[in-house]
Amino acid sequence: MSFGIDDLPVRDELRGKSPYGAPQLDVPVRLNTNENPYPLPEPLVERITERVREAARNLNRYPDRDAVELRTRLAAYLTDTSGHQVGLANVWAANGSNEVIQQLLQTFGGPGRSAIGFEPSYSMHGLISRGTGTEWISGPRNDDFTIDLAAAEKAIAEHRPDVVFVTTPNNPTGTAVPAETVLALYEAAQAAKPSLVVVDEAYIEFSHGDSLLPLIEGRPNLVVSRTMSKAFGAAGLRLGYLAAHPAVVDAVQLVRLPYHLSAVTQATALAALEHTGTLLKYVEQLKSERDRLVEELLAIGYEVTASDANFVQFGRFDDSHTVWQRILDRGVLVRDNGVPGWLRVTAGTPEENDAFLDAVRELKKEQN
Ligand code: PMP
Repeated sequence: MSFGIDDLPVRDELRGKSPYGAPQLDVPVRLNTNENPYPLPEPLVERITERVREAARNLNRYPDRDAVELRTRLAAYLTDTSGHQVGLANVWAANGSNEVIQQLLQTFGGPGRSAIGFEPSYSMHGLISRGTGTEWISGPRNDDFTIDLAAAEKAIAEHRPDVVFVTTPNNPTGTAVPAETVLALYEAAQAAKPSLVVVDEAYIEFSHGDSLLPLIEGRPNLVVSRTMSKAFGAAGLRLGYLAAHPAVVDAVQLVRLPYHLSAVTQATALAALEHTGTLLKYVEQLKSERDRLVEELLAIGYEVTASDANFVQFGRFDDSHTVWQRILDRGVLVRDNGVPGWLRVTAGTPEENDAFLDAVRELKKEQN
């Protein structure tokens, strides 16, 4: 046996665990990580180059530690798209919403504290919890993947978690959570502790419904987290952000590393925000492709979970991993999230989606 992680004096809670990681395989059609399939438009690439060139001239200096210009622009984007007025003081940004979540858990979770999520959901909520020494509690869902409110309220009352995660639209199921459910969970969380409720809206721009951002008004323990990785088509940028009461923004400053957002990141994100209109047009295209995937999968004879995201969960399979492999054998990479009986496909370009639909149509014929 070779020397491995468990032979090192690593923290007990990390022993025997695997790192997060979707396979990055070199296949013709990659529909497995909920990325936006459209490269950034050329005028935006030009603008990024200009902005980064300017930033490069000052790289001998540390970047704006408080990312004031970027947070102001993000606040304007949120205000414009949600109709709810937020300002610089309500917004915080970090390297991907994963880092936003990590900072929230470092601030509100930690040793002796716990966090709950309703699974299946975004697995990093649990992994970042463990990584910050926060006990992870796996809450239930209904068979149709909606949140079982009564069971969720009971779990909150029983465990009294310090942080409650609600992902809407949910990953990997695509399920949106109604505002009334989030409000009820917030009330339950306040009655039990009070605790921080994190509404993870990574996919909200793809939803049929509206952002729950207005709910932060008068609810200082409610945080909405967002990302530029999906709707803005900028997964490689690593820019996530949150909107909340200004006190939450002040609180995360206690754990953020100084100068965590590089000048290059800030310049690139600012350039992307100048092109919001164009980028959101791609979102409209992806939403209609997502709806087409749902319709066609149903027509072929698969079951589909109603989706408000840029991906679709489909099934059911006795052995989803074998089906995943057989789709891959046809040059299409989808995601096996470990939800028994189900797989997840990201909406790609019309051609990519056609390739996926051809592959699953063939599989269905073989089964019959
Ligand atoms: N939240 C959810 C629900 C996600 O699915 C993802 C990405 N898969 C993230 C957060 C993290 O995204 P990023 O760090 O790229 O902003």
